[in-house]
Amino acid sequence: MERTLSIIKPDGVARGLIGEVIRRFESNGIRIAAMKMLQMTKAQAEGFYAVHRERPFFDSLTRFMSSGPVVVMVLEGENVIEKNRTLMGATDPRQAAEGTIRRDFGTEIEKNVVHGSDAPETAAFEIGYFFNRFEMMA
Ligand code: GDP
Repeated sequence: MERTLSIIKPDGVARGLIGEVIRRFESNGIRIAAMKMLQMTKAQAEGFYAVHRERPFFDSLTRFMSSGPVVVMVLEGENVIEKNRTLMGATDPRQAAEGTIRRDFGTEIEKNVVHGSDAPETAAFEIGYFFNRFEMMA
């Protein structure tokens, strides 16, 4: 069993997509092992996206990610990192495959509704950024 971090970004929450995103996870055999809603400060968003701090869009991205509430979840399942990335679709909604979350609901490369860890190491860091062991359902 593998775990990954998913975030329904401020655009997804604001547009009423929490239920739809969770439905897609659950109907694809993914289990939710932890979940909460919160609003990050700018500094917390900068810490989360620290790997991107040299990118030109870092300030805009971290402003967006701290602009409203998000839903953070630990997803669990076989090969769930890749499975979640497939359900999400490519970063840019215009490039994302048909039937993916980002293709169906994303409005621009930044406001693309969901985040998902891209590798086991980043998943471990990202899960630990938001959840402690008591918040994780066995
Ligand atoms: P992801 O793993 O598919 O989320 O993509 P990345 O790790 O490359 O980028 C992280 C997040 O930064 C993306 O989900 C977007 O919200 C945002 N982002 C990526 N590329 C761009 C860009 O060129 N411009 C802007 N404004 N945001 C971007």
